Parts: sequence; C-alpha cells; structure tokens
Amino acid sequence: MKVLVINAGSSSIKYQLFEMPAGTIVAKGMVERIGEPESALVHQYNNSKFASEVKAPDHDAGMQVILSTLTDAKIGVVKNISEIGAVGHRVVHGGEEFTGSVIINSHVLDSIERFADLAPLHNPPNLTGIRAAMHSLPSAVQTACFDTAFHTSIPKTAYIYGLPYDIYEKYRVRRYGFHGTSHRYVAQRCAALMGVDKSRANIITCHLGNGCSITAVKEGKSVDTSMGLTPLEGVVMGTRCGDIDPAILFYLADKGYTVKQLNTMCNKQSGLLGISGISNDMRNLREHAKEGSERARLALDIFGYRVTKYIGAYTAVLGRLDAVVFTGGIGENDAAMRAQICAGQSQIGIAIDAGANEAREPKERLISAAQSRVKVYVIATDEEAAIAADTYALAHPD
Ligand code: AMP
Repeated sequence: MKVLVINAGSSSIKYQLFEMPAGTIVAKGMVERIGEPESALVHQYNNSKFASEVKAPDHDAGMQVILSTLTDAKIGVVKNISEIGAVGHRVVHGGEEFTGSVIINSHVLDSIERFADLAPLHNPPNLTGIRAAMHSLPSAVQTACFDTAFHTSIPKTAYIYGLPYDIYEKYRVRRYGFHGTSHRYVAQRCAALMGVDKSRANIITCHLGNGCSITAVKEGKSVDTSMGLTPLEGVVMGTRCGDIDPAILFYLADKGYTVKQLNTMCNKQSGLLGISGISNDMRNLREHAKEGSERARLALDIFGYRVTKYIGAYTAVLGRLDAVVFTGGIGENDAAMRAQICAGQSQIGIAIDAGANEAREPKERLISAAQSRVKVYVIATDEEAAIAADTYALAHPD
C-alpha cells in the first residue's frame, strides 16, 4: 500500500510517497509559490529530479499537480491514483484534544479549524491541504498527525504558566510544545540504538534547526518541552528570541512599539539574526565568526549557552539522564555547536568523543566517549517517515 505524506504551508505543499509497511520513499517533492501566476514543481523519483513551472492558483490545483505528476507516464511512480490508499497530513496544532494521530472526519476538521486561533499561520493552510486531498483522493484514508500530540503527556506542573488560572480556563493559554513528531521519532530511534525499550529510557532530545526546541522524554513520554503556547518560547532560534522577560514587551510598548511590531521583532528579527545583525543561518555565522565578526561569535555563544542551560534543567527534571540526542539542520550537521553545548558537562555525565562528533556519517551515530555515563547521539530526524508509519497503522487497525 502506498501512503502519501502531505505538509501544506501557506504557499507550498511538500509531499513524500511511501511504500508501506517497508517505509521506502517512492517519490518526493513540492509545489511552491501556490497562488502566484507561476508556481514551481520539484519532483524527485528513482534517483532523478524533475523541475518545472506549473499552474497552481490554489491548493486544490497544487494537489492536482502532485497527483498528475505521481501518475505521469514519464516521471510518475504509480499507474493509478487508487494505489494511494492513505494520506497522512502534518497538522501543527491539535490543542489539548489530540494525543496522537487520528483518521480525519468532520469532527477532526472542525477541531483543526477551532485550533487555528492558536496557530493562525499554520492550521489554516494545513486544513486547506487536507480539504484539497480529500477532494482529489476521496477514497483514501486521510489522517492528521499533530506537532503538539507528543507533548500532551506533559504534566500540569510543567504546562501551566504562572498567570491567573482563569487565563488558562478561559483561553487555554498553556504550554503546548511543537516539533512533537520529530522529538517522538528521534527518542524512539535513540531507545532502539541503545537496545532498550523506550519505556525504560530517559532522554533529552534537542531539535536544533531554524526553529529549535528541547524536550525531556521520560520513559517514552514528553514531560517538558521548551516551546510554549507558540513556537516563540525556549532557546534562541534562527530569527526567534526564545525566552525573554515578558516585561521587555511592556517596556518597549511604552516606548511606542505596536503589538504587530513587537510580534515581528520577536518572531522574525531576533535570535541568531537579531544578535549577529548578519544572518539566521548557522553556516553564514560560522564563516563570519572565522573572519573575526564579534557579533557572529556572540550569537553562536549565546545559542550554545541557552541549549546547555535547558539540558541542565531537563537533567534535573528527569532525575536520571540516559541519553542526549541532537537532530535538525544544526543538531545533525554542526559538530562545533554540539561540542560547545556538551563542553564542561562531565558533572552530569556527558563527554563527547571528538572524532565521532566530527564524523559526518552514518546519519544515526553515537558521539559520546566510552567513559561518558550519558550517551550522546546524532540522529537525523524523519517526520515524514513517522507520519507515514502512523497513517499506515491507522489504515490497518489490526
Ligand atoms: P532546518 O530548519 O532543520 O533545516 O535547519 C536549518 C539550520 O541548519 C540553518 O541554521 C543551517 O545553517 C543549519 N545547517 C544546515 N547544514 C549545516 C551544516 N552543514 N553546518 C552547520 N549548520 C548547518
């Protein structure tokens, strides 16, 4: 059975087609610039790559482009669209309701729409993608896999903010957490690599990409995570500020900044970009730091420092720490950042093996030294594979 995984954004639809249960990728790609006069298709299949301008004035049309590409006589990979038995959709916000992936019905659609209030940039395009897929593939099972679901196991002590309690009751303002599919996936892989059942391992998973979040995973369950009501909280990210004193915003509001300006500042102009004044891209910052830029160096130092701080905090939360996992574009690729984060952590049992840390392969590897009490792994995340596995399991309940 083939499972199509869809990640719909405001102007793009990414897709991966899996052969299940083997989990092999049959094809992948994306339609970008949906809604513009010229949209772009990139399609990868059988070690080949196809790129073309296409017409995709809306998501329905974008989905049609994907399906006609997948069935195309030359570059397609399926003979008939009916071979696609299920479609798994990435959905950012599942509120407090969805504790795992679900088959989509009208109630699920209503809930995703309701939670758009909490994720206004993400849930509406996710929903548009779902509707387009339901329209184009009416007989396929459609599932929703939520970024928030893995974190619904976080206890109240960790998810309630120190605000008046009725703010939670009235508006559901609480910590939700994000990147849940990635944290769940790498934590499971980590337990497998350690050769223990996931219910026996305490792991800190560090998803460090353009967006970053750290999660404390106790016996297979998320018990705390650094992102909060929105993905703005936590460590310093590419363009997001992460944790700040909330009074900074009142102070700046008194200086004349509007809510909109503060929102843009904290989400798009802060983090590595804001501190360095150069770039939100770790590779650029490394170049500039090498050439002597003090602000680039400072941005790198602050980034690493904040991650170290969370690892320390979550070590205390977990009580016993078995492993730390690095994933995401920075976590998987930036050996110097991993070394910086782990430096001086021998008191909590973390010691890196410099050679293993510098090696670039394999995609899943142990990088801690033999004497390290806590194992440290680099594990390439694969949210699509996790969504495909969930979708296949839901489509085959036995
Ligand atoms: P992601 O959002 O997971 O795609 O991660 C994007 C971040 O990963 C950017 O800051 C990139 O600069 C960083 N990144 C990707 N490749 C490398 C690399 N080889 N070395 C350092 N950082 C990298």
